[in-house]
Amino acid sequence: MKKIIAANWKTYKTWEQAQASTQELINLLPQDIFADRDVILFPSPVLLKIVAETVRKSRIACGAQNFYPVEEGAFTGETGMAQLRDMGCTHVLVGHSERRHILHEEEQLIAQKVHFALRSGLTPVLCIGETLTERKQGQVEAVLARQLQSALAQDKDASRLIVAYEPVWAIGTGEVAGPNEILAAHASIRQWLEKNLPTGANIPVLYGGSVKPENCSQILLLDNVNGVLVGGASLESEIFSKIVFA
Ligand code: PEP
Repeated sequence: MKKIIAANWKTYKTWEQAQASTQELINLLPQDIFADRDVILFPSPVLLKIVAETVRKSRIACGAQNFYPVEEGAFTGETGMAQLRDMGCTHVLVGHSERRHILHEEEQLIAQKVHFALRSGLTPVLCIGETLTERKQGQVEAVLARQLQSALAQDKDASRLIVAYEPVWAIGTGEVAGPNEILAAHASIRQWLEKNLPTGANIPVLYGGSVKPENCSQILLLDNVNGVLVGGASLESEIFSKIVFA
């Protein structure tokens, strides 16, 4: 399976910075790298258009960090699916821990978003992961299974899905999960996907949480790790390109 290297820019960058970073990344990545790697940028909603336009002639994809599961409608402050398609998005993050924990996004809405994205032709990147308390209580496998079950309850034929395992305690903290923790979590996710979805063996499972150029090669070699979702280390294209090359 080709490795997927995805960048979550959160609320960082102005329009000009986004355009410059995207162009710099395009210049840094030779064509042949895309034989082994898929690269996706997730900028903030106000930067989607400039990033999607800049990557249009490259092999880099552009995705949204969030959307509301409607084509369009009276949902103040939200972005609808018709707008994402119009801007050139092909992917969307769903259930990122910052949305679950800071914006209190609930499992029911996450399931609606996965369902709507699949139905609308975009690829959802479903983020799941345990908190530190849940890990200390030995609940990692149960939490991952519960989050998968609830997000995918309506979508047994989810052939375009990507899953990202992002332990909440490793996101933006500099504390990366150890190889054994990643191996165990990814094995349990793969097992769940294979048992519950006909396409489960082919669904890419990414790791996210303080990935950097210094630790990514080791992470990408682990069983059932089909790529990485990168926050902080994706903001500078030169640093991010080292992760793409890893
Ligand atoms: C993320 O935001 O998905 C993430 C993994 O962030 P960081 O790489 O900064 O931990």
